[in-house]
Amino acid sequence: MKIIYTDNNATTKTADEVIEEMMPYFGELYGNPSSMHTFGDRVGKKITQARKHVADLINADPEEIVFTSCGTESDNAAVHAAISAFPQKKHLITSTVEHPAIKNLFAHLAKEKGYKVTFVPVDRQGRLNTNVLYDSMSDDTALISLMWANNETGVIFPIEQVAKRANEQKILFHTDAVQATGKIEIDVKKTGVDMLSLSGHKIHAPKGIGVLYVKKGLKFSPLLIGGHQEGGRRGGTENTAFIIGLGKACQLAKENLGVMNTRVKELRDYLESQLLEKISGTSVNGELDNRLPNTLSIGFDAVEGESILLLLDRDGICASSGSACTSGSLDPSHVLMAMEVPFKSAHGTIRFSLSHYNTQDEMDAIVRNLVPTIEKLRAMSPFWKDGKMV
Ligand SMILES: *Cc1c(COP(=O)(O)O)cnc(C)c1O
Repeated sequence: MKIIYTDNNATTKTADEVIEEMMPYFGELYGNPSSMHTFGDRVGKKITQARKHVADLINADPEEIVFTSCGTESDNAAVHAAISAFPQKKHLITSTVEHPAIKNLFAHLAKEKGYKVTFVPVDRQGRLNTNVLYDSMSDDTALISLMWANNETGVIFPIEQVAKRANEQKILFHTDAVQATGKIEIDVKKTGVDMLSLSGHKIHAPKGIGVLYVKKGLKFSPLLIGGHQEGGRRGGTENTAFIIGLGKACQLAKENLGVMNTRVKELRDYLESQLLEKISGTSVNGELDNRLPNTLSIGFDAVEGESILLLLDRDGICASSGSACTSGSLDPSHVLMAMEVPFKSAHGTIRFSLSHYNTQDEMDAIVRNLVPTIEKLRAMSPFWKDGKMV
């Protein structure tokens, strides 16, 4: 069966060009880039090139790029560096809608290490309450960490504005830009962030490679203490093939940014308008005109997201639910709960996240599947009577 893949915020297809670029470095070009001989240095030169491609995508300098094993490691390394730089400061700021890589790390620091954490709330549209954020900033704040864009709703946070305030008060600012990268323009110089995380597998590189951007001059304590790799900021022999693959993926992401914001956005908007038009009791989650171009979080009243996913799956359509039911909890996702999306709509929320590999035909196939699927599920739902939610 042909797969229709619309779960790109969970992971992406590794681009063929990326795989091709990586292959020699699994085989004949196995040298260690830190070696003194020409054989190893051939790999070293290629890594230098990859580092430049990554830097170019976010307007950083190559020396500011630290390769890690994933987005989660980048987030952990950033937080570790901040609290090590200011051991006397015991306050941290983040939002209520972060990825678990930040959310659970901050909860851990609060519970186990005595940190006071401000989780800044969002409104019904997923917009950050900057007043609460600014009011909570103090001399005791070691770090502000905010995601650039939300993985579930695609809502974009005012990173430049918050980074400016953080800089003025001399508070370190980190952003998890894992979802924003390759979808909207990222410029670390213009924005003035101190640290930024990105992940390979969200931008058509393989799983298991990430980046932490560290602004020049920042005092940095590595999470992995070891050799002098990555300028002493991350020990461990370089994951050569994956770094080279990520370099290629960043090059492609830069080229595809236009397509993402035209053709992919048009596909997303088409899918959204078709579903809103053809299925009653349907609502889109998140600030409509301030979202990633590829993301659609859409709630169908009075049905279970899991049931929708199972029926979509039978037709080879891959999407994701906004709910954590599959992991044993009956609560909707923490993001939708933080936005106070009504329970019966949050429970029936599906996330479609597109890439430039998607087509118009695929969007039509999803609409053709979903219209009868929702009808069928609502016929069985105790919360749906006479064409509306009860
Ligand atoms: C996927 C994701 C991560 C984690 O990246 P990994 O490479 O899977 O560890 C972190 N933050 C956000 C916003 C993500 O979407």
